[in-house]
Amino acid sequence: MSRVVYIPNMSDHAYTLSAALRSCGIASEALPEPDEESLELGRKYSSGRECFPFVVTTGDILKKVREPGFKPGEAAFFMPMASGPCRFGQYSRMHRIILDRLGYGDVPVVSPTSQNAYEEIGGAGMAFRIKGWQALVATDILQKLLHQTRPYEVNPGETEQVYNQALSILVKAVETGRNLVDVMREIREDFEGIKVDRRVIKPIIGVVGEIFMRSNRFSNNQVVKKLEELGAEVWLAPISEWIHYTCNRFKVESIAQRRYRDILKAFFLEKLQRYYEGRLEKTFHGFLPNCHEPPIEDILERSSPYIHFSFGGEAILSVGKAIDYVEKGACGIVNVMPFTCMPGMVVTAVSKRLREDLNGLPWLNASYDGHEDTSTQIRLEAFIYQARQYRQASLSGSFHKRT
Ligand code: SF4
Repeated sequence: MSRVVYIPNMSDHAYTLSAALRSCGIASEALPEPDEESLELGRKYSSGRECFPFVVTTGDILKKVREPGFKPGEAAFFMPMASGPCRFGQYSRMHRIILDRLGYGDVPVVSPTSQNAYEEIGGAGMAFRIKGWQALVATDILQKLLHQTRPYEVNPGETEQVYNQALSILVKAVETGRNLVDVMREIREDFEGIKVDRRVIKPIIGVVGEIFMRSNRFSNNQVVKKLEELGAEVWLAPISEWIHYTCNRFKVESIAQRRYRDILKAFFLEKLQRYYEGRLEKTFHGFLPNCHEPPIEDILERSSPYIHFSFGGEAILSVGKAIDYVEKGACGIVNVMPFTCMPGMVVTAVSKRLREDLNGLPWLNASYDGHEDTSTQIRLEAFIYQARQYRQASLSGSFHKRT
């Protein structure tokens, strides 16, 4: 493709993913992080009934096409789609309609689908699959380094500075095809050099929920930082989880429909992903406690008493990941979602039973719609207080915790 493929800036993964595309000879750039202007534009060109991530990504696309010097003949927008019980599958179609109406009918919207585990992304094939996957996993690990170091830093701002430098190094390394295991080893050393004080043990909070909202700092009003400011350490569900899930889904559906070639392909992809993920995770043994991600089957197994596998989509992942985090020591869960998110509402509904089964685990269902809400801050404060108490009770053995 001779056009520049613009990637929505859901998280810092957008930078490494576009670097992976560039390394495969496809011009690509991450769109800038969303801001108030994105919201204003997105709202102007949507009806008010769409999901919040759609509004934000629409605004980002429109901001780009309105930039002076934008050349429609040289641009394309990346918007993956998914099947399942929600509206994500419609985003790219709606973006197409909006671009057409505004006279940008010649600007493609590149939409790989979860139905074939995002087999063809921008036509880049297997080379991109390997590079893009490593880039995503490495960025997940980088974020874990940030979240598991920043709450304990002695010199305020140092972790973020090291993180930003590491992200630039990683982007360059992905683009130039350097061995990412070597790069991540160097990054580990940089993080080891940050002065930390871990004498005060902080409650660990797991953040799960809708992938865009939990990952996008602007859309969730910086929920990770806010929890850290209230004295917590945060574990944020990784992006790689969704890719593992779509691969698993592809395998299960291929088996059910006896598509033998696809079955082989799915097994191969799973093996490939695990191999590259394992190599990168190994680099952080003994340093990053929450580095290793369990197999996706374990996550699905954990959620199965609450939501049937056939329901599909993000709800089962949120529930399974929440249980995984609690088993690893989290003292509270925040389920981040856009206002009126369908999977998010399902998770909210089952969270009551989940809390009961987990000895009254503090659980906050936090929905966002782009407006600053002072009550969210108060709810976060109360939630962190409960998480501390839960931790105390857990340590004193006053309830039986799942293992
Ligand atoms: S997960 Fe929620 S917010 Fe995302 S597309 Fe589906 S319904 Fe909308």
